[in-house]
Amino acid sequence: MRYILLIVALGSCAAWADDVALVGGRVMDPASGFDAIANVVIEGDRVVLVTGEPVDADRVIDASGLVVAPGFIDLHAHGQDPVSNRFQAGDGVTTALELEIGTNPVAAWYAARSGNSVLNYGTSSGHPASRGVAVSAGSRGLGVAAYAALTEAETIRMLELIKEGLDQGGLGIGMGITYTPAADHREIYRVFELAAAEGRPVFVHMRNASKLSGDLLAPLQEVISNAVVTGASLHVVHINSSTNTAAETAVEMIRRAANQGFDITTENYPYTAGSTRLESALFDNWTDYASLQWVARESD
Ligand SMILES: [Zn+2]
Repeated sequence: MRYILLIVALGSCAAWADDVALVGGRVMDPASGFDAIANVVIEGDRVVLVTGEPVDADRVIDASGLVVAPGFIDLHAHGQDPVSNRFQAGDGVTTALELEIGTNPVAAWYAARSGNSVLNYGTSSGHPASRGVAVSAGSRGLGVAAYAALTEAETIRMLELIKEGLDQGGLGIGMGITYTPAADHREIYRVFELAAAEGRPVFVHMRNASKLSGDLLAPLQEVISNAVVTGASLHVVHINSSTNTAAETAVEMIRRAANQGFDITTENYPYTAGSTRLESALFDNWTDYASLQWVARESD
């Protein structure tokens, strides 16, 4: 399926035309449910007409055989550089957000992209990064931050750093619990408490199930419990790879939580490969993890 990027057209039309028409495309608007072959007229930076009737405009673009849709918002985009942005734009993405892991300091992240990004951008305030700074403020150094249990003073400093990130424009709190194996259940709970107090969502890559005797649902039960008890909104990233053969039950749990009024959502990526940093804690005990994957494949 190929897409016409409405936002790209909007951005470039002002220089050479008063209005632009995209004609003959399959116009899909998830917000209204509209899905039909239609013509779209854009004046300046606004869509002014969507119609099945013929239209006239200063510039007419033939969109036959293409989908015309609002720009996609990607909640889970680690590629936050000009090259990645151009690939994302080719997929129809106009807003690429780094929410899963986030960053610290947030203000510097925004400053680095201000005025030179081809896409809309945003980040969460990162628990792993804030944790690393809080630990390195002591005597341990960043290299062991993922494996260091925090002192109470470090925990308080970490929570301050996450809040600073929210105040600097962080869109929520990003957590990659599998990347910070020393973060115990209480530490994670306190981050959810902060999210609830600030009225911001938590985006979470859950614990590695292979470190919990292969219990694929225990990591999900941890974050759902924290969300329900604190009232924080929760988005569980890539439920497919995180819960593997238990994914159907995991989705059912999230659906039931949502049906009861809890703001708990998830996502599923459509490809079979994943990627992360080779030195990350995710690969600790990687042979156990590999065998878990193998069992999953065998049971397909
Ligand atoms: Zn992840």
